Amino acid sequence: MEHKILLRESEIPRQWYNLAADLPTPPLPPLGPNGKPITPDMLAPVFPMNLIEQEASTQRWIDIPEPILDILYRWRPAPLRRAVYLEKHLKTPARIYYKDESLSPAGSHKPNTAVAQAYYNKVAGITRLTTETGAGQWGCALAFACALLGLECKVYMVRISFDQKPFRKLMMQVWGANCVASPSTETNAGRTILAEMPDTPGSLGIAISEAIEAAVTDPTGKTRYSLGSVLNHVLLHQTIIGLEAKQQLKVAGEKLPDVVIGCAGGGSNFAGLAFPFTADKINGANIDIIPVEPTACPTMTRAPFAYDHGDTACMTPLLAMHTLGHAFVPPPIHAGGLRYHGMAPLVCQAIVEGLFAPRSYHQSKCYESALTWAKTEGAICAPETSHAIAATIDEAVKAREEGKEKVILFSYSGHGLMDLAGYDKYMSGQLSDYELPEEVLQKSTKVLENLPKAPARKTGRW
Ligand SMILES: *Cc1c(COP(=O)(O)O)cnc(C)c1O
Repeated sequence: MEHKILLRESEIPRQWYNLAADLPTPPLPPLGPNGKPITPDMLAPVFPMNLIEQEASTQRWIDIPEPILDILYRWRPAPLRRAVYLEKHLKTPARIYYKDESLSPAGSHKPNTAVAQAYYNKVAGITRLTTETGAGQWGCALAFACALLGLECKVYMVRISFDQKPFRKLMMQVWGANCVASPSTETNAGRTILAEMPDTPGSLGIAISEAIEAAVTDPTGKTRYSLGSVLNHVLLHQTIIGLEAKQQLKVAGEKLPDVVIGCAGGGSNFAGLAFPFTADKINGANIDIIPVEPTACPTMTRAPFAYDHGDTACMTPLLAMHTLGHAFVPPPIHAGGLRYHGMAPLVCQAIVEGLFAPRSYHQSKCYESALTWAKTEGAICAPETSHAIAATIDEAVKAREEGKEKVILFSYSGHGLMDLAGYDKYMSGQLSDYELPEEVLQKSTKVLENLPKAPARKTGRW
């Protein structure tokens, strides 16, 4: 039995997998301000045309350009590891595998798409990218990719993380990016929010508004915006995770996994691992696919499926997704990457169809799982990743109780070496659990009433 399954560089996947080609109920189209589906030219001030084409593509396999692979070789193919020490600790008959995305230079899965997006922008003649970041992981990933490809990078970082995670900001600066706290005084969107709520901890929705505004108002026309999750092309770039994992499970002598788990903020690391296996499920395989979120920001488990904006200032097109409402400001929990009001439309359409079974966990249970992980497997995981570990532990214990030799596969989305303040709070008993009150949810989803309705279509097969 091998503890880690490595692929040769020559075995790296050369195409990404697009779930949009196989979903039995295709995702609803994004809508413009007039309530009609948007056209590619409407997105042109925000994204380069090559990425807009990818966003709308329903082609099943899309070639990965060689220059992108050349950069990914720095850490890919990523190892598939077997969590033998956790298995022993739990006395479970389950075999637990995890895809280790913590080994990228920025410490998470996010560079998989950052590199691809920076590359496509550069090919399209763009010289500067703007973006938002929550916990700082995405800002770091894009700063890293821009440094390698010679692009300028501007990052609007959610205020609470900017204050809690100064080292992430410093990492971005090492890679040459310019990082400011959001809401900032540099944009109309930021100034408007600061006037209403001077003490706001900020949110991804606000930071996205600022980054888009900064991109579309650049008079040179050479700035575009880059999003780290949620959109179809981002999820597409992340499927290299699941495609590698599939080859590696085969090397380990396994067939398909019984359970696939990932934490979900905007849905990209979960989708990256799960989509290639979702194709098998659509074709008849019996796989439990579980996206995990915090109870404090319960998008998939409690929020309605509706058309909503991706940002607070309503600058983005309307996306059909599970949403807590675009003005929702999540409580300041420590898994900053899981504090987003919406969720990837492709993930949501698969949830509506019944292909995925989302669940939510309290942050204290997640930190407890993170400590168990650190004391068995050894590594210190990101607070986001701890949600996937909590679900993995629950599934492994269930397998023990049922006496079943299940294969569990999860996404180890990142390390937590820049997130020790959250661990400190947990270990010193200062962390409290928070369940979003129903009244707050009702109030925050009121904004959806005046937007077009999104029919929840399903075949009833799952
Ligand atoms: C950003 C982040 C997440 C959440 O983002 P997704 O798009 O849902 O993957 C999860 N884990 C880590 C380590 C992250 O940095």
